[in-house]
Amino acid sequence: LDATNENFSSEEFEVEKQLRPLSFDDFTGQDQVLENLQIFVKAANLRGEALDHTLFHGPPGLGKTTLANILANELSVGIKITSGPVLDKPGDLAGLLTNLDERDVLFIDEIHRLSPIVEEYLYSAMEDYKIDIMIESGPNARSVQINLNPFTLVGATTRSGLLTAPMRARFGIQSRLQYYKTDLLTNIVQRSATILDVPISMEAAIEIAGRSRGTPRIANALLRRVRDFAQIKGNGSIDIEIARYALEALNVDAHGLDEMDNKILTTIIDKFKGGPVGISTIATAVSESPETIEEVYEPFLIQQGFIMRTPRGREVTEAAYKHLGRVKGPTQGG
Ligand code: ADP
Repeated sequence: LDATNENFSSEEFEVEKQLRPLSFDDFTGQDQVLENLQIFVKAANLRGEALDHTLFHGPPGLGKTTLANILANELSVGIKITSGPVLDKPGDLAGLLTNLDERDVLFIDEIHRLSPIVEEYLYSAMEDYKIDIMIESGPNARSVQINLNPFTLVGATTRSGLLTAPMRARFGIQSRLQYYKTDLLTNIVQRSATILDVPISMEAAIEIAGRSRGTPRIANALLRRVRDFAQIKGNGSIDIEIARYALEALNVDAHGLDEMDNKILTTIIDKFKGGPVGISTIATAVSESPETIEEVYEPFLIQQGFIMRTPRGREVTEAAYKHLGRVKGPTQGG
């Protein structure tokens, strides 16, 4: 149940596509982000212009790719999808850019992983809708400037801290996606169950939602696994008993915390007496990069009330001790 794109099989990818909301109306949560986007899209449509370049940032599985697709739908334009690590050389990017129709969306996932050369190449495309391409080779090689159709670049990143300042500055619209509250995830689970044609009780939907780490992708993945249990061990419909049984069998944490979340909490408790401790010290202790801890794991642990940011570093809370079944030792120095 990894929340990153890389570890999904193609079958899961297909189901995920099937569950993807296609319009603003279909999309649950992120109200402020959605409200603004709706206005920008309406204005762009009225003027017949390309939407401003748009950057989505936030942890994996919260709907960045979904929103890119929705933008294209709501703009009634096409979308081309690629990702930072795939775009090796400027030539790869040139091929995509020159094939965009007027107002099309180009979606670049993991945009923080573009190579510096490709990134630089993107600047003039974003700014002036122009690129330089090399024609011919050998002694006749020369670069010519070509005009592109006005387009919208939609970038997505889990690691906004790794985006260069010039890149960031070229996005007129920037939105941060937040973790979803359980009631919203419950709606998403119910919506997905309807699409998958599996009956589910309210209680069961809430149970799955509550263990999904605030993340729609995880909620959908859990729903599909629980559906398997309901089909094989039950009567095909998902009630609270089968949901609890399945989640137990799947070893899903009561709060949906994953292995790294729990590792971070136990490390702070066991090695640093509960904190406060600096982020880079935590990162070294759990063998993860400080940026990933800060942008992928910590926001959820803070939102759940397991970690606090203090001026002297990160501290775990009472709730974290309780969650892990630990007893808090006497604090040092009063
Ligand atoms: P990201 O690009 O941020 O990693 P995705 O857009 O790929 O996340 O979303 C992962 C899955 O979660 C999608 O397939 C979609 O089914 C579901 N999803 C995400 N956001 C929502 C939402 N607001 N409402 C319903 N489903 C959602």
